[in-house]
Amino acid sequence: MIKPIKAAGFGGLFRTEVDRMVDAGRMVAEFLEMVKVDSVSGKERDMADLVKARLKDMGLDPVEDGAGNKINSSAGNIIARLPGTGKAGPPVMVCAHLDTVEPGRGIKPVVEEGIIRSSGDTILGGDDKAGIAIILEVLRMIRENRIDHPGVEVVFTVFEEGGLLGAKNLDPGMLEARLGYVLDSGGPPGTIITSAPTQDRISVAVRGKSAHAGICPENGVNAIEIAARAIAGLRMGRIDHETTVNIGVITGGKATNIVPDSVFVQGETRSLDRAKKELQTRLIVEKFNQAASASGAGVDVRVENLYREYSIGEDREVVRLAVEAAEKLGIVPRLESTGGGSDANVFNEMGIPTVVLGIAMQKVHTTEEFIRIGDMVTCCRYLLEIIKAAGEKKQP
Ligand SMILES: [Zn+2]
Repeated sequence: MIKPIKAAGFGGLFRTEVDRMVDAGRMVAEFLEMVKVDSVSGKERDMADLVKARLKDMGLDPVEDGAGNKINSSAGNIIARLPGTGKAGPPVMVCAHLDTVEPGRGIKPVVEEGIIRSSGDTILGGDDKAGIAIILEVLRMIRENRIDHPGVEVVFTVFEEGGLLGAKNLDPGMLEARLGYVLDSGGPPGTIITSAPTQDRISVAVRGKSAHAGICPENGVNAIEIAARAIAGLRMGRIDHETTVNIGVITGGKATNIVPDSVFVQGETRSLDRAKKELQTRLIVEKFNQAASASGAGVDVRVENLYREYSIGEDREVVRLAVEAAEKLGIVPRLESTGGGSDANVFNEMGIPTVVLGIAMQKVHTTEEFIRIGDMVTCCRYLLEIIKAAGEKKQP
């Protein structure tokens, strides 16, 4: 996690005219309302209805796509467009996801000294409702202050956590934007994630042979032993500066007096470099095949590529706009790579250059998750500046 810059603090001094445009009280109230609406992955219906209503209140015409049916989610992705002003170019896409991880039900947010946290027994859900709150506030700022902009395409996805399923099932034909920003990373405002890894999920079922462990163990083939040999032969953790390997699931066996005939193992490989990821995946598959064939066991292996890597050069417009906007506001732009996948991986694969912006959410996916109101305000100013910059670029 990247350490955030010093936050302005709720109710802190206004430094620029744009600061006055951010209605921090309104944004925080909306954020608190949203985190109280349960929306764990697959059950985003209430959140989807809430954001649709808010977008309609602003005069937008949100559309819900059919992704929900395809992925067995209670809602689809929400797409809405704020038309640009006179000199409009292609709109800028801004994206955040509607779903949260567990424990994410019955969240009771606590506001203390400019910091919003959960009451301690759930996550806060700032991942990614802080992103949604910032986007909604920026849309209001644009409208209320009649700010020139090239058009804003809002995409709120479902089922981002655990598979990017909403984004993967979004029809690219619904989008007009030629570049995008996903508000879904830690790190202070100014953090721009320009590269992210590709990931494989490897599922292995080792099939041995059961036997009585005390009477005739020689008749059995111990699947747990075979899996252990395979795993012990693997390098795990950080393989190099851009590659990681993890075996994260192992289940099998019924009782101590039975030689186990099956074990299920699941792991993952990631790398910013596709060839390196493929090598690590191959090593895992080989180790299991070798261990199984040496012991007369069978093995079923399934490899799924969950998403592709992306790497966007500093000279690309999507990055330059974000860097220039940061500099204009006196925010330090930080180009970073990440070990995590996000909806940006999917948009890049669709051909829409997209980076992820840090929105200063901290300790996400834990019950200690928190976010500073001052940082959220800065994120509003920053996102607005990026959108304005995109509009100015389109001028002849
Ligand atoms: Zn997220």
